[in-house]
Amino acid sequence: TTILAIESSCDETAVAVLRHTDTKEGSQVEVLASEISSQIDIHREFGGVVPELASRNHSLHLRPLIECAMEDAGVNIEEIDAFGATAGPGLASSLLVGNTTAKSLALATGKPFISVNHMEGHLLSPFLHEPALRSNLALIVSGGHTLLIQMKAFGNYQRLGSTRDDAAGEAYDKVGKMLGLPYPGGPEIEKQARSGSAEAFQFPRSMMKDGLDFSFSGLKTAVLYQLEKLDPESGRAPADSIPDLCASFQAAVIDVLVSKTIRAARACGETTISLSGGVSCNLALREAMQRACDQHGITLLIAPPALSTDNAAMIAFVALHHHLQGQSSSLHLDINPNLKLT
Ligand code: ATP
Ligand code: MG
Ligand code: FE
Repeated sequence: TTILAIESSCDETAVAVLRHTDTKEGSQVEVLASEISSQIDIHREFGGVVPELASRNHSLHLRPLIECAMEDAGVNIEEIDAFGATAGPGLASSLLVGNTTAKSLALATGKPFISVNHMEGHLLSPFLHEPALRSNLALIVSGGHTLLIQMKAFGNYQRLGSTRDDAAGEAYDKVGKMLGLPYPGGPEIEKQARSGSAEAFQFPRSMMKDGLDFSFSGLKTAVLYQLEKLDPESGRAPADSIPDLCASFQAAVIDVLVSKTIRAARACGETTISLSGGVSCNLALREAMQRACDQHGITLLIAPPALSTDNAAMIAFVALHHHLQGQSSSLHLDINPNLKLT
């Protein structure tokens, strides 16, 4: 079975070709191609994603990217068994580009179209190179979401917690902006944090002991107050305090993420934790989660960084599971910018 999928929910245009084969030893999934055209450089000068620019660039890059993916994969269009695309959540005008293109390809070739939830893509990404999906407690930390989900099987998801305000990635990006770092703030803060002290500033661990929901806006405000204290005149960070601010902020985020995830896994008796979404590229988070899992005898699964930020391989992987279960979507099914996972 060969699947082509398109991801265009935000500022990454991505196309992937995935092949699933049944062998005597079991089934095997191979990423034949995974192309990503990032628009980060285009949006950087505006300090965030500009929707109009995003959709224009998706339409500009999508067609050549599809051709490139098929060439890399060494497949032609007749060999594709189904076309998948992200239907949401994301920016409406961006989602429409990938979604409409996948529908057109399905219509032209007479093959099924499969609508995919972007968050389900993140959720399943740690399993792409595993022999099979299995029951686990998932933490998804991305630019727009912080979700704790108990996943029993494909399609069987229960939400245990989510953020009450900012997502973890959003907090990184907003704090990065406050510190005058380039967009997106996540990777920049991680870099700066390496030469700073996590004990330099005491930032709050909001809702640490309180249920399984998250809140990161208080932490963001605490960083802002600290900036005003450091330089009452400009409220800007003195250059020599940036590494300490980043390290202290990052430690607060990671403490909360790790402690709630472990607590959730123990509460529902899961012995596997999966970590996904762009923030899971963060090495300090990966290491802290790994240490905590080792302490509690829990297996940790994390996708490689290229599969953690937005990509189309994870979308094709979800489409593949739908396809293997005989599910496809109507060509009339619309995109949904607020699509929910549970
Ligand atoms: P969503 O999936 O919720 O719709 P998104 O698709 O924009 O949002 P992703 O592409 O999964 O999110 O992740 C992007 C986020 O990951 C950004 O907020 C970015 O700052 C953050 N991020 C990327 N690398 C790192 C890192 N090394 N450390 C911390 N955060 C990071
Ligand atoms: Mg992105
Ligand atoms: Fe994403």
